[in-house]
Amino acid sequence: MHTIIEPFKIKSVEPIYFTTREERIRILEEASYNPFLIKARDVIIDLLTDSGTSAMSSDQWAGIMKGDESYAGSSSFFRFEAEVRKITGMKWVIPTHQGRAAEKILFSITGGKGKYVLSNTLFDTTRANIEFSGADGIDLICEEGKQASLIAPFKGNINVAALNQFIADKGASSIVMVMITVTNNSGGGQPVSMENIRATRAVCDQYEIPLFIDACRFAENCFFIQQREIGYRDKPIIDIARELFSYADGCTMSAKKDAFANIGGFLALQNDQLAMECRNLLIITEGFPTYGGLAGRDLEAIAIGLEEVMQEDYLKYRIRSIEYIGEKLDSVGVPYLKPTGGHAVYLDAKAFLPHIPPHQYPGQALCAALYIEGGIRGVEIGSLMFGKYSPEGQLIPHQMELVRLAVPRRVYTQSHIDYVAEVIIEVFRKRESIRGLKIVYETPYLRHFTAKFKSLA
Ligand SMILES: *Cc1c(COP(=O)(O)O)cnc(C)c1O
Repeated sequence: MHTIIEPFKIKSVEPIYFTTREERIRILEEASYNPFLIKARDVIIDLLTDSGTSAMSSDQWAGIMKGDESYAGSSSFFRFEAEVRKITGMKWVIPTHQGRAAEKILFSITGGKGKYVLSNTLFDTTRANIEFSGADGIDLICEEGKQASLIAPFKGNINVAALNQFIADKGASSIVMVMITVTNNSGGGQPVSMENIRATRAVCDQYEIPLFIDACRFAENCFFIQQREIGYRDKPIIDIARELFSYADGCTMSAKKDAFANIGGFLALQNDQLAMECRNLLIITEGFPTYGGLAGRDLEAIAIGLEEVMQEDYLKYRIRSIEYIGEKLDSVGVPYLKPTGGHAVYLDAKAFLPHIPPHQYPGQALCAALYIEGGIRGVEIGSLMFGKYSPEGQLIPHQMELVRLAVPRRVYTQSHIDYVAEVIIEVFRKRESIRGLKIVYETPYLRHFTAKFKSLA
């Protein structure tokens, strides 16, 4: 077997600016130990997110020039609509400026006090939009998904027994929908099996509850199904995707993930009545239904990106490059969420820094250490992102304390990835010297974006 190489050549490059350790210590302090507050120019390898950070292809850039900027009935919209329909089979395709705009519209209409949205794991913006509507978001991840070091093929699956139980307890009428996130971003980028989606559909049918897909990384999930699930090995990704969406009543997607676009998203629906209400709200908040907060050129780039992301050479390289980081970390026993997922490596900060308790945010402390050591920017996915306070003001920690190192699509080469692994390993060697953090400023929603910290060193 030869090395699986990047299935692209580089036509246009962007410089990386290097900083010294002393500079990074000062920059991090000025950013109050929050990676979101560091300037991008001061980052060497930026693994904050894979969202909107993809390198577009020459075809996409050509599409940018072809974008039809007509206010109504733009030909770029029809190309976009046709592509989304081809993949999802959905009747109504509603463009939005990002995934969260699709969520905001969907949950403004379907959400509300006393209602529930059940999920394998809701992403942070999805949960925030559900809670903002007054409803509650409930995560029912499968047992395997709760154990960071356990190797299993589909750790993103929803717990179907728990789903049944929850519906039986609360009554079907209070359940707005079941929403399955593929792949499970907040739970390690782990895939969901077709069998699990089918079983979820059966439960939804029994109680007449709609099933939605949070489709941000549908192609990566479909590739895992092709590789790991019996009966799919010879099926093209498009066929797997079509089957997956055939079980759903609708989906939301951020085109900033598996569409290689720098901005964009959509809401796609089967139900006419719901679509009409969503389109009306779209006009108030995003724009006319044939552009929905996007330029025609964005719609064009998304349509092309959706086609490119399903190419198997690409997916093989993509999933392999993530797995490759995992193998390097295994060689010295760095704890991470296993197996590696679709778009990121999730370091297990709880096991990495056992001397730092949850209320001192071990994930955030690890992010700080990675930045100081090598200018690498990651993001905490743990008690900072998902922690809650008890009525007495005590932190209720999240199940896991993770640091997500998300790999932008088609952006970094193998030597960048080698460097990342070297830096992580260096930090692991020095782990006992890393200190916890104390929050000195926070907001009630999505606090991780703006929170400020002091080091307890
Ligand atoms: C990124 C993301 C969203 C939100 O999309 P934005 O385009 O960032 O608003 C929703 N769900 C998942 C799983 C995501 O990864």
